[in-house]
Amino acid sequence: MQANEASTDVIVVGAGPVGLFAVFQLGLAKLKTHLVDILDRPGGQCAELYPEKPIYDIPSVPVCTGQELTDRLLEQIRPFEPVFHFGEMAASLDKTEDGKWRLTTDIGKVLIAPVIVIAAGGGSFVPKRPPIPGIEAYEGAGVFYAVRKIEQFRGRRIVIAGGGDSALDWTVNLAPIAQSLTLIHRRPEFRAAPDTVGKMRALEEKGLVKFELGQPAALKGSDGTLEAVVVKRPDGSTFNLEADALLPFYGLTMKLGPIANFGLNLNENLIPVDTEKFETTTPSIFAIGDINTYPGKLKLILSGFHEAALMAQAAYRYVHPDKVLRFQYTTSSSELQRLLKVA
Ligand SMILES: Cc1cc2nc3c(=O)[nH]c(=O)nc-3n(C[C@H](O)[C@H](O)[C@H](O)COP(=O)(O)OP(=O)(O)OC[C@H]3O[C@@H](n4cnc5c(N)ncnc54)[C@H](O)[C@@H]3O)c2cc1C
Repeated sequence: MQANEASTDVIVVGAGPVGLFAVFQLGLAKLKTHLVDILDRPGGQCAELYPEKPIYDIPSVPVCTGQELTDRLLEQIRPFEPVFHFGEMAASLDKTEDGKWRLTTDIGKVLIAPVIVIAAGGGSFVPKRPPIPGIEAYEGAGVFYAVRKIEQFRGRRIVIAGGGDSALDWTVNLAPIAQSLTLIHRRPEFRAAPDTVGKMRALEEKGLVKFELGQPAALKGSDGTLEAVVVKRPDGSTFNLEADALLPFYGLTMKLGPIANFGLNLNENLIPVDTEKFETTTPSIFAIGDINTYPGKLKLILSGFHEAALMAQAAYRYVHPDKVLRFQYTTSSSELQRLLKVA
């Protein structure tokens, strides 16, 4: 085996919440996992898009943020010692001579396993960039497509552009800490949840938020430091808004990327699976979480958790075709408790 090669029981593509929980379920079945993720850290959408926003529908956890959920999942899977390959894209997939899967990452690392689990969410998600000349030069310093740390925006002059949930949510969340916050949208109507629109209007009445009709048309500043956003009104006239930070929330484009070339059956960039094992039409390749599709699918974290549990049962049969996996409860099985390192 080469230095940049590793062999394991299961390779999980994607370390979002569902990929992480898959490690737990596979671990209970004594299966070892390697995870590959393009991002530089675990958590998928939860860590990348809404680390500080509350989630209310995780069973038995009344409220936790996207980052807290990620941290708890990491703690839960720690006993199983998963191997993470961050900052690497699962680039190609083919078969070895002895019938296993060989997954090669974009930096040439080779992982070999009898089972592949695709937990790639919407694929690699890229924010839709507004058509502003030279915007690239400001990205990361004056232009942000996600809020990783709320504190980064304290005391700053913020312009938020967009009319959907993200634009309105961040308007409501950042207004209390900003020096000034202006929301700009091309229409007076918003697509966001009415409750959030109501909160934004209340902040507007208190003078904490200013709303302007228009779209960002140009940026003023130097060396990536933003000084002002030039806003174009619906009638074509323009005005300047002094600003340190522009946050355009025009939605995300999900790019399936190389997974589209893995030879899997696809339905509008989603992977059809059965609902007994969450296996694709290619035997020993499973798809769980936001990436899969089946009748009645709900793109919720808890759906992905359920899918991971059933997937692990079926994955076991590929890794140990000669053995039977006994159904056990973590509450009462001393064998599972030993695996969890609590007994
Ligand atoms: C603002 C917002 C709020 C939300 N609130 C809730 C909520 O309250 N409750 C709820 O249940 N759900 C919520 N969701 C949805 C929830 O975040 C998703 O259902 C969940 O993240 C799906 O998990 P996943 O692991 O399937 O995919 P993801 O979280 O998308 O993770 C997939 C991972 O795969 C990686 N990846 C993709 N392609 C490759 C590749 N080729 N190679 C390597 N890595 C790859 C990506 O980088 C990513 O890290 C929300 C989503 C958003 C955007």
